[in-house]
Amino acid sequence: MKRYFTIPVAILACAAVMTSCGGDDDRPVKKDFTVTVTSEGNGSVETSPAEANEGEVVILTANPNEGYVFSSWVVTSGNVELEKVTDNPAAFSMPAGNVAVQAKFIKVRIFKDAVYHEGVGAWIAPQEDPYTLENFQQAYANLSANDLTRSSEFSVIKNLTATHYAIKIFPKNEDEQWEIELTEDVEVSYIPFTYIGLTEKEAEKIEPTSRASEMPVFPESNPYVVTDNEIEQTVDSIPAEENISQVMPILYAVWPVNKPLPEHIEYEKDYDVFLPFDDGQTRSTTALSENSLRLLENEAIRLALGYVSPSVMPAVTRAETVLRGEFNTWDALTALRIPVPRIKVKFHLGSNIVETDADENGNFSINAGTIPADASWEVIFQSPKWKVTRENTTIPKNFFQGNVYQQDFWSNPATEVQPSVQLTDATIINALNYYYYQPHHLSRWDVPGGIRVIAHNDSNSGYNGLFTYTSGNSCYITIFRNNTVNRNVLAGTVLHELGHFIQFKERGGYSNMKSVDKLLQESFASYVGWYLTGEYYKDMGYYNTDEDDISGQGRQTWRKTRTGAIGYYSPLFVDLVDSYNQASYLGSTFNNDDVKNLHYSVIMKIAKESADWESCKSILRAESGLTSQELDAFLEPYEYWYKN
Ligand SMILES: [Zn+2]
Repeated sequence: MKRYFTIPVAILACAAVMTSCGGDDDRPVKKDFTVTVTSEGNGSVETSPAEANEGEVVILTANPNEGYVFSSWVVTSGNVELEKVTDNPAAFSMPAGNVAVQAKFIKVRIFKDAVYHEGVGAWIAPQEDPYTLENFQQAYANLSANDLTRSSEFSVIKNLTATHYAIKIFPKNEDEQWEIELTEDVEVSYIPFTYIGLTEKEAEKIEPTSRASEMPVFPESNPYVVTDNEIEQTVDSIPAEENISQVMPILYAVWPVNKPLPEHIEYEKDYDVFLPFDDGQTRSTTALSENSLRLLENEAIRLALGYVSPSVMPAVTRAETVLRGEFNTWDALTALRIPVPRIKVKFHLGSNIVETDADENGNFSINAGTIPADASWEVIFQSPKWKVTRENTTIPKNFFQGNVYQQDFWSNPATEVQPSVQLTDATIINALNYYYYQPHHLSRWDVPGGIRVIAHNDSNSGYNGLFTYTSGNSCYITIFRNNTVNRNVLAGTVLHELGHFIQFKERGGYSNMKSVDKLLQESFASYVGWYLTGEYYKDMGYYNTDEDDISGQGRQTWRKTRTGAIGYYSPLFVDLVDSYNQASYLGSTFNNDDVKNLHYSVIMKIAKESADWESCKSILRAESGLTSQELDAFLEPYEYWYKN
């Protein structure tokens, strides 16, 4: 809580005191408006002052009772928007009208061994897996032994048998990893089933331990490391790294007992699992009714989470609850909330995993009839077309929990100037979605299982993006955290790397891509970044002009003089299409470019067929429709660059 005492609040508070003491006498002065602050329960509240004039600073303070922590403020009336509803104390400027605010408190849970996991970007706490067969058998015995059930079914002992196996899979390479992830009926987690990612709210309730800043020691790690010595990188800004190594993750899978195990992939059977429901449908083979299965599940979760069983079991009331939400992100350029569609949403409590996909508008709903309130959400950035992972890990991020409707999961315009990792991911996802799903002129290529995109946390690397491809013709994209303040430039970077991907696929992979002149590679990628980012924003109703290249990819300041030239990142292909003449805007040291509206198929032909400057020029001579005089004038600055 201490972190909420920010310096600006303290300064404002002093100013307010000075003002109120500045009166001519000591009589209390009647102020114009009132501040009413109430508690929802489990804590007390204060406001200072309780009456205020317009513009005066008001400070709200919440004091939780033992065993509770402050959760948030809710403005119940008045024209006030708190900068951060979770701040305590919270300060606001008094509007011209009365204000009423209520404080909410939540119960403290103590996760003794919770640790912050850098790779996951979340707090992780160990817990028992409630869904082990053994735990369910114990729950069944408990319910049968005492007369706590409402069902005669429990008066007869039935045998519970496994519905699934919890297995650990050790993929040797990405192909094996993808094969498992894409196997039907098999749910995969990257966190051991005995660990659970805590939500942000839960993390606030953690009692700090000495281990808080350590990496959690997961029980084991995959011995397999993928190293490719024949790797080739198209690095945007710095020289290529020599070798890339990647530790393969362990996949924790819930495997149906009646499905043949993956014999050609290394795995280890951990324990038997009993899963009574599948997305609300009964899936166990017992003859127990749905009500009894829910009763059983309640008891099993209680046992595993260490809750004390009540002397009388409560009625089963958690029937069908549908959690709904919408993923969106804030785009500063358009000042719009942009949906983040087609994300896989995963619920995970022990080995019980329920998944759903956000639709094309970013909406999702999930049947949470059996999901306890203490469990957490995870989001997996995955679709058949692509998969966004975090740096050096494929562990999904911890997410959000609760009954939320049209909740803004992702962003807050007030904090937009400091984008979070989540926001970065959302923009990356939207740019990828645009390439794969929205109408445009470029070829759409797939990689079986989807192209891997690494959202890299490093912002000091000096580069923005990487396209990596190997002699085995596999490839992936890395996006660094530079330029993430400007979502448009970030989208431009993602689409630039996809430009390399398009050329790589057009040319049939590694050997033909490797031979392509760098200027042609980067100019084509810059064209794709420029063109697709423009289309992406046009879709949102934002039209950028040629002189205002929102993508950062047009490279229009590329000079014909050596001074200030930015090397390979030339506007060669953009210049053939756009109607921007650098010389008329920027002066005579820039390219004088009167060429415009070249058909994109000519650019694609060059990208696909020409590997060097001479063959590029031949295609332009044959296909551009320009006279040789026009073409020579257009190419002059590029010729100059080549000669110098
Ligand atoms: Zn590039």
